[in-house]
Amino acid sequence: MSLLKVEGLGKSFGGVKAVDGISFTLAKGELLALIGPNGAGKSTTFNMVNGQLKADRGSIQLEGHELIGRKPRDIWRLGVGRTFQIAETFESLTVVENVQMALLSNDHRLYNLWRRAAAHRRDEAIALLGQVGMAEQADRPCSELAYGDVKRVELAIAMANNPRLLLMDEPTAGMAPNERNALMALTKKLVTERGMAVLFTEHSMDVVFAYADRMIVLARGRLIAEGKPLEIRDHPKVQEVYFGTGKTFEKHGGQPAAAAPTEAAHG
Ligand code: ADP
Ligand code: MG
Repeated sequence: MSLLKVEGLGKSFGGVKAVDGISFTLAKGELLALIGPNGAGKSTTFNMVNGQLKADRGSIQLEGHELIGRKPRDIWRLGVGRTFQIAETFESLTVVENVQMALLSNDHRLYNLWRRAAAHRRDEAIALLGQVGMAEQADRPCSELAYGDVKRVELAIAMANNPRLLLMDEPTAGMAPNERNALMALTKKLVTERGMAVLFTEHSMDVVFAYADRMIVLARGRLIAEGKPLEIRDHPKVQEVYFGTGKTFEKHGGQPAAAAPTEAAHG
């Protein structure tokens, strides 16, 4: 049985069908990439799954629980996690304190108890940081970290809730290619070790082809292709959408260039 089953999901903003009746499934232990040009409806899809946006139609089932209509907090409790950017207010905290905060909120404790509970769950937080290779930097302020390391801490924070499904919307945005690969390799490791499922968006096709088990492709709110990376790479509709955009499939400007469409597939 699928962990996540999305059927006929739709959402419009005014006259714009941001997501127009898409269906897909996600299995336990699967790393599924959601790709598509800017404005394709990727973030809208994510935000319906995590409850930030209410779908107009369709259904989103997590192991048989309908998620549409539930509050984000309830969806989070059911085991749907997502990576958050570390807020500026928490940059003054150290790496390990940020993860301890996440563990505390998972205990449904209040933020203002935090200072009194400073030692609380430190070992557990360090263990989580160990999983993302950040244990040695545990006591540094987050504000001092390199960008790629902040992203790893964000991943540790998302892990604090022990999610069964993790949503990552553009997790590698702003990262250098080697940092992107490191973060996705780490994500893949966590998926394997924890049997977690991940739904992620990513602009770099090199990264998607290297790490995704399966891909779904959106264009103008519709799901135009689904399959394993190699199947998607040669899919005519995908070629059409990304025609002439080069290696990354990024930012389709609506003006097809004269370049050979197959260029997008080479890595
Ligand atoms: P993607 O993440 O694939 O770039 P989005 O899901 O952000 O795409 O957007 C899909 C479409 O919905 C776009 O046309 C966008 O302008 C529109 N859209 C997204 N969010 C809103 C919103 N809150 N209000 C109005 N239109 C929106
Ligand atoms: Mg987006």
